[in-house]
Amino acid sequence: MLPSDFPPANKRLGQNFLIDHNIVRKIVAAADIGQDSTVLEVGPGRGILTEALSAAAGRVVAVEIDPLLCQMLENRQAKWPNVEFICADALSYPLDQLPVGTIVVANLPYYVSTPLLFRLLDARRRFPRLVLMLQEEVVDRLVAKPGGSEYGVLSVMAQYAADIHKSFRVSAQCFRPRPEVGSAVVRLLVRERSGLTAEAEREFRLLVKAAFAHRRKTLINSLRDEGYLVSRATDVLNRLGFPLNARAETLSVSDFIALTGQFRETN
Ligand code: SAM
Repeated sequence: MLPSDFPPANKRLGQNFLIDHNIVRKIVAAADIGQDSTVLEVGPGRGILTEALSAAAGRVVAVEIDPLLCQMLENRQAKWPNVEFICADALSYPLDQLPVGTIVVANLPYYVSTPLLFRLLDARRRFPRLVLMLQEEVVDRLVAKPGGSEYGVLSVMAQYAADIHKSFRVSAQCFRPRPEVGSAVVRLLVRERSGLTAEAEREFRLLVKAAFAHRRKTLINSLRDEGYLVSRATDVLNRLGFPLNARAETLSVSDFIALTGQFRETN
C-alpha cells in the first residue's frame, strides 16, 4: 500500500509521520532489541517504525487510537505476523497485560506526550528501557539538571525513575507533515531500585508537585500554599541543613528523596 492510500494526517492526533528510514534505523538501534524481545509501540501511525520493529523483535504490540489508521494497519497484518495492532487510547490501554521486560519504542504524539510518559513511567517495572521521540523541549526538561528554568516536576520524577540520555535531534524535514517544534530521541534506562517504598513514592510525588507549584516562591512558601505546615517544613529543612530560603529548582532528585524521608520521620 502506498503512503498516499492512507487518510490525510490528523493534526489533532499529533500525526507527524516519520519518512526518514535512517532515523527509523537509529531509533531501533538505540532500543537494543533482540528476537526474544517484546516491544510496545505507542501510535504506529502509517507503520514506518512498526515495520522495522517487526523485523528486529519477536513480538510487537502497537496501540493506535485512530480507527482509520487501525483499519489500514490491520489490512497489512499479513506482512507483519508478529505485530498485534490494538485500536485503543494508549492512556487507557492496560499496560499490565504486557510481559515484564517489554521495551517501549515510540514516536509519541506530542499533544499528549507528558501524560503518556508519566503513565509509562508508572508502569516502569515491566519496561527496562524506553526509546522515545519527543518534542525537543520535553527532552530538555527530562534531562535538565537543578538550577535551570527547564528543571521541574517532569525532570525530578523521570530522573528518579530512570537514567536518561538525549540520543539525537531529528530535523523537521524527517516528518510529513513537518512539526512546528523541534524533535529529539531520548533513551530512558529504568532504575531497578529507586529507593522508596510505594507509599513513600506517593508522598515523594506529592511533595515534588507541591514544591514546584509556585516556582517564584521559596520552597517553604510553595509547600505552605499547597497545605504543608510551615513549622514542619522549616523543621525538615533545618534537619537536612538546607537553607530556609531554598527554592525547589535548586534541589536535586536525592534532595527530594531526603526531604520525603524527613517529612515521613517527623509525621
Ligand atoms: N509511529 C508513526 C511514525 O513514526 O511515523 C506515527 C507517529 S505520530 C507522531 C503519533 C501517532 O500516535 C499517530 O499515529 C496518532 O494517531 C497516534 N496517537 C495519538 N494519540 C494517541 C493515543 N492517545 N493512543 C495511541 N495512539 C495515539
